[in-house]
Order: sequence, then structure tokens, then C-alpha cells
Amino acid sequence: MNIHEYQAKQLFQQYAIPIPEGSYADTPEHAKQVASELAGNGWVVKAQVHAGGRGKVGGVKLAKSLAEVAEFSHELLGKRLVTIQTDSLGLPINSLLIEKIYPIKRELYLSLILDRATERVMFIASNAGGMDIEAVAHETPEKIISVAVHPAAGLQGYSCRKVAYTLGLKGQQIKALEKIMHGMYKLFVDKDASQIEINPLIETDSGDLMALDAKINFDDNALALHPEILAMKDPSQEDDKENEAQRFGLNYITLEGNIGCMVNGAGLAMATMDLVKLKGGFPANFLDVGGGTNVEKVCEAFKLIISDSNVKAVLVNIFGGIVKCDVIAQGILAAIEQVHVTIPVVVRLEGTNVEEGRALLTNTGLNLYAAEDLSHAAEKVVELAKAVA
Ligand code: GDP
Ligand code: MN
Repeated sequence: MNIHEYQAKQLFQQYAIPIPEGSYADTPEHAKQVASELAGNGWVVKAQVHAGGRGKVGGVKLAKSLAEVAEFSHELLGKRLVTIQTDSLGLPINSLLIEKIYPIKRELYLSLILDRATERVMFIASNAGGMDIEAVAHETPEKIISVAVHPAAGLQGYSCRKVAYTLGLKGQQIKALEKIMHGMYKLFVDKDASQIEINPLIETDSGDLMALDAKINFDDNALALHPEILAMKDPSQEDDKENEAQRFGLNYITLEGNIGCMVNGAGLAMATMDLVKLKGGFPANFLDVGGGTNVEKVCEAFKLIISDSNVKAVLVNIFGGIVKCDVIAQGILAAIEQVHVTIPVVVRLEGTNVEEGRALLTNTGLNLYAAEDLSHAAEKVVELAKAVA
């Protein structure tokens, strides 16, 4: 789960990570009010959306007067922001973060991730932070270092100093960085985060360090332990279909192709999408209906898939292990009828009672194809989608 920058900064504050003075606002008047309470001669107006890359597309504006704060707020609120990290529709801007402007001497990069290869929490740092960090990663990866934290020993002084030297910090700044890294690490572990990113971490003209941006991602599987984090969820920043899928315990992710996929098991779903691509097609979604599939779930899954107007054909790939294939076939027939699916549906069943299942799906008078095997099913669905497109 993602949260907004202003929420991430509230957590930073609780963990003694220095942040700019500022506050949340959701109307231009509110924004002006917030700015007027922040002494200074300039303010930053930042669109709050669950995506980075805002600076490059006008989602971060520097205002020189209170009138400009109101003007920029008016421009941003209610619009959708399309950044390199969003899809082509972008995300709605329903709130802003208004902050005092700080003079920037240098922009650094500091993040914490869970590294799967070493199975450790790992700091990533670079002295070339800011809006072009992706280009740095591609062109001069040697400017980025990583330091893993030993889970039993915890974050050690030498690890902090290694990061400090990479960032070109001196004297008191090294202590300040150490404090920031300890705060980040504690926050990461306490709240079961999967990523904390500060880009940029700035050095101000006076040499102070400060988190100018804040992104935190949490492990969904641990959210039940952290109601205060779950309360920060903003469904407006998530895909409607994905929100709907969560309500029914379906694992669904929207993609950009035209072949709807309904599969039981995440691994089988990935393999199915690979095969669709191999046969020249493009999956419209990832969908894992889970192990104990029933008619209700299959109905909801069909509703989700066909609510995407890009979808031209559906591939159902179900392995009848827990549920028998003939029961699944009956479920599919019931769902096609209840949900009024009219686009072609290719079904590949395998497992217990597969013959009975296939027989039920043959000669139904529906736009339904019972495939013999997965390869054949993928070819068929790609062919059908192309014929419609
Ligand atoms: P992102 O593009 O979504 O990652 O948004 P950021 O919060 O990182 O802001 C983008 C850029 O705006 C930063 O890299 C800074 O250069 C600039 N910026 C943001 N806040 C301030 C500020 O308080 N003062 C100044 N001078 N620039 C800022
Ligand atoms: Mn940033």
C-alpha cells in the first residue's frame, strides 16, 4: 500500500527525520491560510498523488506570494496528474502539501528497500539525487551504492559512515545522517514498510539535511497489524477495478492489453500471461481467483474483466485441484449467463473430472471454446481477439 507524501512526512516526524515546515490543504483558501502561517518569503505547492515524477510535469510549483499559492492550488486541485509513473489517465489531485521554501545546496538520494537477493533491508544512496535519479541509475550506476543491514546486529555506525562518505557529508552532517538512517530503519521495521524513499534529501545552504520528498510503501500482508497505517489508505489513488477486486478477495491488476485472463493461482496466472504474449497477444489484466473458486467469485471475476472496454476475448485457465473441473465448468456457464458475457471466452481446464468439465462446455450455443491444452487455448484466444480488433 502507498501513502501520500504529507502522510509519509508525518511518520518521518515521529521518527525524528527532519522535514520542511508545512501542512496539508485541500482548497485554495485553505492553502493560502496554511502558507500565511508559515513564515518565509516563498512556498512550495505540491500535488499529492501516489506517484513520483511530479516535479517534471508541473505537480510541484514554487510560489512567491500568497496570491500565487492560491492560484497554483486552484490550478492543481481537481485535475489529474499524468507523470512517468502513472498510466495515461493519471491520478486525481484531491489534496496539496504546502511547504516553506528552503534554499537547496545539493540534492541527494537515500532510500531503504527489502532486497530479495540478499534477503536484507538495504540502504541505497547517491550524491546525484533529484529528479534525474533514473537516468543516473542507467548511465552512471557507479554513483549509486547499496548497504545491507544485518538483521541481528541492526544498523551499525560503519554502515552509516559509508553512506555519509558517498553523499560527501562532513562533521556534524555525518551525525545528522546517522540519525536519519536510524529513524528510517526503525520506521521500516516498526511499520513493516517495503520501501522508504527520500529523493531529494537536501543539504541546505546552512549545511542542514532535510527530507524534501517522502515516499513510503507498505507490505500489504502486514497491514492487519498496523491499523494506523491502513487508515491512511486513499482509494481515490487506486484503480477502481483493483479496489472492487479486493472486496471479493480477488487478486487483480489492470494491464493495457485486450485479452482478459482468469486464472487460479498466481504462478499459473503469470505463466498464462507469458504464453499469451508468446503467441502474439496482450493480456488486459492479471487475475488470480484463488484456490477454492466458486460461482460467486467466477461471476465477480467476469464482471471485472468485461468492465474493461479494451477486452475483446477472455481466457479462463483453471486447474481443478481443490474444486473439480465439472463444478468449475458449471460455474463458468452460470457466470457467463448471469453477467451476460458476449465476447468470446476460451476455457482451458485441467485436473479432476476434466472430461466431464470439457463436455459441459462443448456445444453450449454460447460464444465459448473448450481448449484441449494451454498452448492451444492461448493461440485460440489471441486469434479471436485479433478477429474482433
Ligand atoms: P517528485 O518529482 O514527485 O519526486 O517531487 P519532489 O518532491 O521530489 O519535488 C521535485 C523537485 O522540486 C525537487 O527535486 C526540488 O528540486 C524541487 N523542490 C521541491 N521542494 C522544494 C523546496 O522546498 N525548495 C526548492 N527550492 N525546491 C523544491
Ligand atoms: Mn522526489
